Amino acid sequence: MTAQSAGAEGFPQVRPGTEPDAGAVAPGEGPDAAGAQPDTRPGRRLVVCAPLWPEARAVRAGIGDGGEVRVSGYGPGGARKQAGRLRRDAFGALAVAGTGGGLTDDLTPGDLVVATEVTDGTTTTACPSAALLAGELRRAGLTVRTGPVVSVERLAGGRARARAVDAGALAVDMESAWLAPAAGERPVAVVRAISDTPQRPLRSPAALAGGLRALRSLRAAGPALNRWAAAAGQRRVLLAGPRSFCAGVERAIEIVEKLLEQQGPPVYVRKQIVHNTHVVADLERRGAVFVDELGEVPDGACVVFSAHGVSPAVRADAGRRGLSTVDATCPLVSKVHVEARRFAAEGYLVALIGHAGHEEVEGTLGEAPEAMALVETAEDVARLRPPDPAKVAYLMQTTLAVDEAEEVAGALRERFPAARAPGSDDICYATTNRQQAVRAVAAESDLVLVAGSANSSNSVRLVETAQRAGAPAHLIDGPADIELGWLAGVSTVGLSAGASAPPAVVGEIIAALAGLGPVEVNERVTTTESIRFSLPKEVRSP
Ligand code: SF4
Repeated sequence: MTAQSAGAEGFPQVRPGTEPDAGAVAPGEGPDAAGAQPDTRPGRRLVVCAPLWPEARAVRAGIGDGGEVRVSGYGPGGARKQAGRLRRDAFGALAVAGTGGGLTDDLTPGDLVVATEVTDGTTTTACPSAALLAGELRRAGLTVRTGPVVSVERLAGGRARARAVDAGALAVDMESAWLAPAAGERPVAVVRAISDTPQRPLRSPAALAGGLRALRSLRAAGPALNRWAAAAGQRRVLLAGPRSFCAGVERAIEIVEKLLEQQGPPVYVRKQIVHNTHVVADLERRGAVFVDELGEVPDGACVVFSAHGVSPAVRADAGRRGLSTVDATCPLVSKVHVEARRFAAEGYLVALIGHAGHEEVEGTLGEAPEAMALVETAEDVARLRPPDPAKVAYLMQTTLAVDEAEEVAGALRERFPAARAPGSDDICYATTNRQQAVRAVAAESDLVLVAGSANSSNSVRLVETAQRAGAPAHLIDGPADIELGWLAGVSTVGLSAGASAPPAVVGEIIAALAGLGPVEVNERVTTTESIRFSLPKEVRSP
């Protein structure tokens, strides 16, 4: 099918400081739009404003020749003056880096807070690339939190701090909110190294040690700031369509949500309901309890079987324990189970093409353990010793790479010409469609990013598919996993998401990239999907 190009619905073109759903911001409309054009000359690309000279010295030691470090002056007065100068200057990206007061009990001196936004209570400046910079700093071994930073007019004590905490801020300073708007439409970052905390207040004996630790962290942050500035630039994002949730994943999540609604927490789920950290964390927050084995489920409780399916032995165990069960196995996985039982009953050796250790494979093999063999490669096929070479059948894990699985199936057919194939494709429609779509964007992209968790088979296969199509490709759980070095010199980023990755993560990735420069979003749609699976009777509304 030919790929169609479209301005991506729901993803307007985005610029630094705007969210992808905030609509396009035309040149000249943004705050301080009169700012100078980006200056890409070496050493001028990045300007870092540090309020006091010890902070400036620490940052300078960290960034070396990567940018210009200015002592911007202490407090709102100095910050406002420096902002005026910045508006007249040419630079590529602006960072504000200094020490700051931590507002929450979980911060300790030396931790870094990367601002998602800075505010003085009147004007708020968004810092959309915060997750990217924070990820880079964490990979450098620093302890980093992301969240709002509040700037105050004078040293913030009791009541001012309490107000900032109530507003959800992580740190307080006296400059950022007045400096950051001077970036205009250029990338802006605010990094505050925590020097004092609620337990170690500014005027305590521990304050000096806290300040020194903060300065060490500022210095250590320098190389990451350089990489952040080097990654700045205008880009195109090519969205692969379809991407993200499939019908089986939507059904599995809905089953847990309905049970939470109908029975209230806790709702026990055997294994991760789908292989995605965001989905699991969200359901956990709402009262789902994920267990590895049924032994962890209290007697008489209800347990959900995940989308990947379970073996008959697990079902029997649940029956023996008197647990009530709700089956969220994807109907397309259940179809493979049925085929396994059928072939085994007819006396075939059933070769299952799949990956060892995956829950779906364990569940399917459990249907007829004595009559089934896992084959991962053509070499495994050569090692097969069926009792009757004329009675060999094969099945596939639903989330394999289509081309790789076909290679193993070809080896099976070659060695056992009478081999029976599944009645219809085992690799599911969602896997096939997402691979076809990522192949289409990989052909046009300098870099492909796939949203998905490391244990998601179909997401990992999307990365491999893009790589086989010739593009550098990486799996990321979210924007914080994007290594800024990947983006240097990249003008087109292909973006897909595995069948278990929430659509919202795609939006977060685009928003973060837009924090590095204007982003034009297009979509390549290779096919559309309308499949829905009905819910099991246990959770259907009456
Ligand atoms: S990826 Fe395919 S088999 Fe897996 S849950 Fe989605 S539709 Fe079902």
